[in-house]
Amino acid sequence: MSAKVKVVKRKGDTLPEKLYLVEVLKGMKTSFGHFWRNLRDNSRLYVRHYPEQQPEITPRWRGRHRLTTHEDGSIKCVACFMCQTNCPSRCIMIEAGERLDDRDEKLPVRFDIDLLECIYCGYCVEACPKDAIRMDTGIFSLVEHNREKMLVGLDELAATPGAFTEDDYQKRGL
Ligand code: SF4
Ligand code: SF4
Repeated sequence: MSAKVKVVKRKGDTLPEKLYLVEVLKGMKTSFGHFWRNLRDNSRLYVRHYPEQQPEITPRWRGRHRLTTHEDGSIKCVACFMCQTNCPSRCIMIEAGERLDDRDEKLPVRFDIDLLECIYCGYCVEACPKDAIRMDTGIFSLVEHNREKMLVGLDELAATPGAFTEDDYQKRGL
């Protein structure tokens, strides 16, 4: 089946069009028309008064990472390096240490994510066999004054709570 091609006539045949001035004035008429109409009544404009009015974040949205913990507060991560290996940006840096709580053999003694390198692809979450890393913090605004502060570490990752409840996931059929 051949694709239907709509041929659009190229403008610029007449003298006023070739001079551009008339076309520029026509464009300005449209722009100023919108400008005056919205100045008189802006009720039809979609304006979000950020940051006072925050956007709605859904559970599927990938925000800043966190490391999940067991009920007793111990970290779920077993330092298997799957997330680091699968990270296309190579922005996860893990150092493994011996684990002494009988849950597993290893835990991370260092777990850094460089948020300036991260592309928020979610591969780390997909690769994790322990559901130890998630991106459900709802944190979307990441602003700091220097690069060092964009390197988020183990303590901060483990201390950040998730932003959603089981109900939030069930309501959306996730
Ligand atoms: S979201 Fe993607 S880029 Fe960011 S840390 Fe995870 S795997 Fe790496
Ligand atoms: S977060 Fe998951 S994938 Fe990454 S090292 Fe820990 S257990 Fe392995």
